Amino acid sequence: MLVTVHDEGYLRHETPSNHPESPNRVLSALSGLSGLAKVIKPMVNVDLIETAGLVHEYHYVEYVTSLCATGGWLDQDTYVSKGTCDALNSSVNALATAVNLLKSGVRYVYLPLRPPGHHAGFRGRALMASTQGFCILNNAAIISSLLLKGGASRVAVLDIDAHHGNGTQEIFYNTSRVFYISTHQDPRTLYPGTGYVNETGVGDGEGFNMNIPLPPMTGDDLYKIILRPIENALREYKPDYVVVSLGFDAHYLDPLTNLNLSLNSYIEVFLMIRRLINEGVTGGSVYVLEGGYNSDVIKQGSRALAMVSNGVDSIRIEDPTRTDAGVVKYFNKMIEQHKALFTQYW
Ligand SMILES: [Zn+2]
Repeated sequence: MLVTVHDEGYLRHETPSNHPESPNRVLSALSGLSGLAKVIKPMVNVDLIETAGLVHEYHYVEYVTSLCATGGWLDQDTYVSKGTCDALNSSVNALATAVNLLKSGVRYVYLPLRPPGHHAGFRGRALMASTQGFCILNNAAIISSLLLKGGASRVAVLDIDAHHGNGTQEIFYNTSRVFYISTHQDPRTLYPGTGYVNETGVGDGEGFNMNIPLPPMTGDDLYKIILRPIENALREYKPDYVVVSLGFDAHYLDPLTNLNLSLNSYIEVFLMIRRLINEGVTGGSVYVLEGGYNSDVIKQGSRALAMVSNGVDSIRIEDPTRTDAGVVKYFNKMIEQHKALFTQYW
């Protein structure tokens, strides 16, 4: 059964009214899980500054925590409230708890935490982005580092948020021990403006950074196609664990983005992860909530995650979406470039 680590602290990170990243997002996720997941509280207490320091610069973490005393904007998108440090403490405790669960043999862990994290880089803003896009500490990067520290040799991060995870890419760009794979809306059309196919990693990390930028209005028919090279690469890489940066904002109902995926694409990803676990390719998975700003999509998507993780095979929540011919043209160009670059690696 899917194990979910929830803590009230996630709700204490407050954002100004009308900000899309609100505490209700966590409540939507939990309401979708009703009866389908084992919900527990974090079981360990770790040091916030030390744990965040695994992937972030000390002075950045210190600055964020000092801002919790008064509250204030980190940038025009990203707010720190007096309760934000409670949320960050709950988050790092949940990440450490998830590591223990995975090491004890639990195969599906869900952390519907907030604030999200994948735009947060080493010093906050990553790869010249204009803002941190609601993110403060990079949860997916922190748990990947904790897993490596705890004895894992390799970790894959699969980021399916509609935005490119520029922070995660920046943090692991020069290592082969974390394989970062991201599907996201074309950076020419959406924040943060990075995530091109030719960003493949440097040094030891060359070939271990895979970006698949999707043209606006990409539907389920095309998303299914790009899951094949992703699954093949994961089968070859054989990560000890897969961390999924789970953003629900690639859904067609999301108010901030322009992709045209339905929950069927998400279900395909959940099924792929389950296949990799059942076939022994990887030891377990942890889903970390990133973006997603339609509450019903978060609710239904979380429900689908629980059902797939619990062994249900066919789930039909809504009809699959198709991509217009004009968009397919751009997609084909991208996939050709992707093949030409990645056949040397995977
Ligand atoms: Zn996003």
